Amino acid sequence: MKKILNYIDGSYCEPYTQDWLDNYNPSKGAVYSKIASSSSIDVDKAYQAAKKAFPSWSNTTIDARSAILLKIANLIEDNLDMLAEAESLDNGKPLSLAKTVDIPRASSNFRFFAHAITQFASEAHESVGLETMNFTLRQAIGVVGCISPWNLPLYLFTWKIAPAIAAGNTVVAKPSEVTPMTAFLLGKICTQAGLPNGVLNIINGTGPSVGQAIVEHPNIKAISFTGGTKTGASIARTAAPMFKKLSLELGGKNPNIIFADCNYEKMLSITVKSSFANQGQICLCGSRIFVEKSIYSKFKNDFVSRVKELKVGDPFASSTQIGALVSKPHLDKVMSYIDLAKEEGGEVLYGGNKVIVNGSENGYYLEPTIIEVTNNNCRVNQEEIFGPVVTMMSFDTEEDVLEMANNVKYGLSATLWTSNLDRTMRMSKQIESGIVWVNTWLNRDLRTPFGGVKNSGVGREGGFEALKFFTESKNICIKYDN
Ligand code: NDP
Repeated sequence: MKKILNYIDGSYCEPYTQDWLDNYNPSKGAVYSKIASSSSIDVDKAYQAAKKAFPSWSNTTIDARSAILLKIANLIEDNLDMLAEAESLDNGKPLSLAKTVDIPRASSNFRFFAHAITQFASEAHESVGLETMNFTLRQAIGVVGCISPWNLPLYLFTWKIAPAIAAGNTVVAKPSEVTPMTAFLLGKICTQAGLPNGVLNIINGTGPSVGQAIVEHPNIKAISFTGGTKTGASIARTAAPMFKKLSLELGGKNPNIIFADCNYEKMLSITVKSSFANQGQICLCGSRIFVEKSIYSKFKNDFVSRVKELKVGDPFASSTQIGALVSKPHLDKVMSYIDLAKEEGGEVLYGGNKVIVNGSENGYYLEPTIIEVTNNNCRVNQEEIFGPVVTMMSFDTEEDVLEMANNVKYGLSATLWTSNLDRTMRMSKQIESGIVWVNTWLNRDLRTPFGGVKNSGVGREGGFEALKFFTESKNICIKYDN
């Protein structure tokens, strides 16, 4: 059976303890490879390699670093089919999605930061009349830790690694143990692109073992983490007393707010996507739909009939729009929320059942599910489900919906459908979230800041925000005589 090894100092290697975990193909519900179950010993070995590589990498010219990042981007593109197939097999997402979103985006992450680093400038402040000149030096931090989740495996892994190495750091990274395959394949691509040994080290294993060892390592001075809010809190508890720099991109329970004056057809088709893309396993999915009362019953009928048309099936079939959920425990968790919704008085308008796919009877398939609720305070409207499940309810006024949109512990993103510019501005300013999409969804320009407020995280990624996170700024103050 294929083994997913660690990638340390430019070479693949087995874990020190020789322990292995099972890696599942979610579309079949069957083990198809073994993953290194690493420990703090492997993390420290990776740290030593990264430490050794740092002086040379951080002094490599920006042009040379940029050229290597561009080569990685090109090699990801050249291997698009192979990587997309690996991602789909490992995660259960439709192959068409991996081909058009996940892998192209992984390549553009490297391409974007290859260019961004050449434009990353610093500031100078002349203290006029005092014969003093200040400038800000932005220096690479050293060895940094990057920990990513399973929903967009290579996409989010590269979203951290590309800016970290572009800025001159060396990295100890951990993909989710649930979806380690494409990160494993990235190691070979980095070697082919000429990334010096030790600049990127990838350690596989569980969160409590490998993730915790990275966060606890006394000399890994910055942690960039994307994952659940509970894990983020635990990481913060460990890292804060060690005074580590922390970027936390956490969960969401995002409102999708629909006013009667929107472009209805456009809203309807994008709302189907924002509800169920990637089986609803995107932190930015609009999982709470609020619809203005005057169009509520029309929307309800139209939305249910569009969602009924979605084809759930084998991720490798070209007709499939919804693939398998990532794992059995996750499927069970999502289904438990459907039961909870019923207990709380919600009405399942469509879905709620497992789907048996011919030839893949043990796969983790679930119907796209729409639940009508009447109270924003119920648990299914307050807690992140992170699956193909949306709730919907009507609202009367702008004030009411704003109150409900904000009355949740999360604050990652929000979507607003309206043609009224005044309302757009009023609402966008008052919605408590890191991103507000107006008449669109998942529309990303990589230069923009990305992140959440409240329990959705701390710090921002994207563009120069990421390069600022992965550097320390130092004020150099020079006094001169005239
Ligand atoms: P988890 O928090 O369970 O895991 C995220 C990563 O952290 C995984 O690599 C995991 O390892 C690791 N990990 C787990 N425990 C620890 C620990 N104690 N110390 C260090 N690392 C640890 O999240 P999921 O993988 O389940 O991802 C889903 C969550 O991610 C959702 O809440 C979603 O909203 C959020 N997310 C947020 C995004 C954002 O940008 N804000 C984007 C995408 C997802 P392992 O899997 O091996 O246990």
